[in-house]
Amino acid sequence: MGLFESVQLELFEFLGIPKNANNKKANKGSTFKNPQNQGPPSHWNYEIDRKAYKRGLSFRVLNNGILKILAPKSLSEDEIFSEVLRHTDWVEVQIKKSKDVKARFPQKKWRSGEKLPVFGKDKTLNIQMTATKKPQVVFLDNEIDFFVPYDWQKLNQKTQEEKMAKAFKKAFKEKFSYELSKQVDYWSKMMGLYPKDLKFKDTKTQWGSCTSMGTVCLNWKIGVFDKEISDYVIVHELSHLKHQNHSRQFWSLVEEYTPNRKAIMKKLNHQGYKVDFLSKKSELYVSNPVLT
Ligand SMILES: [Zn+2]
Repeated sequence: MGLFESVQLELFEFLGIPKNANNKKANKGSTFKNPQNQGPPSHWNYEIDRKAYKRGLSFRVLNNGILKILAPKSLSEDEIFSEVLRHTDWVEVQIKKSKDVKARFPQKKWRSGEKLPVFGKDKTLNIQMTATKKPQVVFLDNEIDFFVPYDWQKLNQKTQEEKMAKAFKKAFKEKFSYELSKQVDYWSKMMGLYPKDLKFKDTKTQWGSCTSMGTVCLNWKIGVFDKEISDYVIVHELSHLKHQNHSRQFWSLVEEYTPNRKAIMKKLNHQGYKVDFLSKKSELYVSNPVLT
């Protein structure tokens, strides 16, 4: 095993499209004809990515509702849509699915009264202005106070949003890393398994990992979920300090400390997008939280 080889949480089809599942492949190498020169329906948002090396046409609907088309350089838009429109029903189903996901995870807004999850508890965002030059975020029992410098009002909306998002994510990362460190310490004592190092990462595809050298990495955004979920992710990774695999022995160790791990994994799968508002780039929306 290499130095940095890691055992990953195989767990979940995480954010994004399950491998290949949504990928509609058109006939490779066929000639594309579009006699009516029909364009896509007006409610479709689409992006065409042309690649020189691409032979066939493939497309999928991302969770933000955009129809992403990969096409060879030589194909015209008419030719592309002559093929894509043959799969209109399929595309409509995918667009509907993306709307359903968005309905379950509405876009967060930078405004007082917005609810934001902290260890499974929704806290109310409370934005206030401050004379200090630096923003400050304070986590209270039921609220999150966000002090925004007066100076920021002079900035244009886009810059304001960027600055707020940056300050906010930094504060969340600090808060979650602190709390999760304490949780890791608790479980290390319970299980008698101590990582050599503990790191917090902003990964897109993993909730946690454990290297063969004994470093445990956690996706700090798991702090949005109920503690039951972060407990499970931590127990899972600490168990890898003993078993670098997903053998029966591994799972029985996990279940010793989280007997209902299957239900928790299911819950995590279902709630995965809850972390979307803290991601570098939103998977569900064209932009991250917006200022209103
Ligand atoms: Zn694992």
